[in-house]
Amino acid sequence: MTDFGHTMRKTLLLFLTLGFYKPFRPKLYLNFKKLDLQCLTDFRAVSWCDHALVDSIPPYNAIVQHFSDELRALLSAHMAVHFTAQDIFETICTQACVGCGEFGPLLDMFTAHRYCNPCVAYSDNSLSMTSDVIEHPGAIL
Ligand SMILES: [Zn+2]
Repeated sequence: MTDFGHTMRKTLLLFLTLGFYKPFRPKLYLNFKKLDLQCLTDFRAVSWCDHALVDSIPPYNAIVQHFSDELRALLSAHMAVHFTAQDIFETICTQACVGCGEFGPLLDMFTAHRYCNPCVAYSDNSLSMTSDVIEHPGAIL
């Protein structure tokens, strides 16, 4: 998480807790591009007005409309605090795997980069393994 995101999260939570954030809403909107996905999603849940305000951010709206499963995965894995909506939007607008340049259908939740199946399966940097490596399915390795 960026320092700015951490500071904004604390400030935003303070405003939400005390209930006097409404006069600052325009200033918050100006800084929405710097907020992480978790912060935007939390802010979106405050009220219908804030819901519409966050949805008016084009990258966040595109993620919600077309990549809701990826957003849900990032939120569930607590990785959404590390990326802005723009980071994920730029990744989903590309098609190439960062490892080989071929089509990359997989989103790495740790780096927000696209990867293809062979790059994930046979990379020394990832902790993945293919099914042919596992001799006993269900065994803890
Ligand atoms: Zn690849």
